[in-house]
Amino acid sequence: MALNDINNDGARYAFICTWHDPMTDITWRYQFMYHTNDQSIEMYDIKNQKTFLKRVAYPAITLEQLYIGSTILVYTRQLLIEDYGDEFTRKHLRGLQETTCAMIKPDAICNAGKILECITRNGLLIKHMRMCQLSRKQAEEFYNVHQGKPFYESLIQLISNGPVIAMELVGENALCRWRLLLGPTSTEVARIKAPSSIRAQFGTDTTMNACHGSDSHENARIETLFFFRCWNMGMSARFRNCTLCIIRPHAVMSGCAGAILDRILCQFDVTAMELTQFSRHAAADFLAVYQGICPDFCSMTHELASGDFIILEIVDKENPCSNPVNKFREFCGPADSCIARALRPRSLRAEFGINKVKNAVHCTDIPDDGELEVGYMFTHQWEGR
Ligand code: ADP
Ligand code: MG
Repeated sequence: MALNDINNDGARYAFICTWHDPMTDITWRYQFMYHTNDQSIEMYDIKNQKTFLKRVAYPAITLEQLYIGSTILVYTRQLLIEDYGDEFTRKHLRGLQETTCAMIKPDAICNAGKILECITRNGLLIKHMRMCQLSRKQAEEFYNVHQGKPFYESLIQLISNGPVIAMELVGENALCRWRLLLGPTSTEVARIKAPSSIRAQFGTDTTMNACHGSDSHENARIETLFFFRCWNMGMSARFRNCTLCIIRPHAVMSGCAGAILDRILCQFDVTAMELTQFSRHAAADFLAVYQGICPDFCSMTHELASGDFIILEIVDKENPCSNPVNKFREFCGPADSCIARALRPRSLRAEFGINKVKNAVHCTDIPDDGELEVGYMFTHQWEGR
């Protein structure tokens, strides 16, 4: 049974969630309940043993978002799902929320947008994502099982010579489904046996075969830890002659991130990339320059804290030593997507945005701020504030 089928099965699913209160530095634990028939939620305060939130319809949350490690926004609180809350939920959802580790290899970075689209279209969710520049030593650690094989040296060269994009994917049967989407190891074989597979479409030869996928649950766990154990693992950001792009939560949630990235990669190089999230406090801090100037400040803050978003370090493809801030702003179009559709119908915000607040992407506004904003986001300066 797929998640889609149980979206309205009349069941109640329970999770253990935590919320960290930045004012008091206390972490609260809740039993969080989700009713599929009317998309309602309720919350129970575990420490004080009392109802915290009475059952209320909350259609902004769907069952797909409720997996271990996910962060959800309930009114103004960001809750981290830490565990299943009862055996019924564990039994029903665990198999549907399997995780695996995926990697886009350097030869397919130019097709990363199309590969993300393929992931989303096939119902897999991206739980973690980060672009990394692996050192030779790190590449050897990742592929140590292949040491001594004839292709080992070219494999290590390939994955340490340019950035890779590592991902943790979640979904029903994620490990097998991702391997099926990849197709056979050899691109040539893939083109014959599975012509619509990722390796057939985006691979070059047997070594440069576009993507990696874990081959067992144990390896999925080890590989995920390898890439995501700390935030600065293999950081690829250059912090020079760059500008910041944020693919906003609403665009990520609606599955547009791949298409947006694909459009960007036609004209710009992406030299760093990460899936991340903000607390409301961090979102307000980042957008502080708009406070008092922009009447939409509160809704902008709410949107930015509403879910995962993708940060990108953008560099001008044709002229990588120039300041790309103005060129990228032009490419994004007017801040209000409705105006963008009238004036610049081919711009990113015209195509993927909805209105002024949900305008698909943030881009750095002032030429002097590109490197500053990239530095702030990619060195996680908002954390621990
Ligand atoms: P997979 O990536 O499909 O799990 P393996 O784990 O066997 O395949 O190999 C790891 C990677 O090593 C492959 O994705 C490919 O890049 C490279 N490789 C494997 N076999 C060969 C080969 N016979 N010739 C060249 N490169 C190979
Ligand atoms: Mg393998």
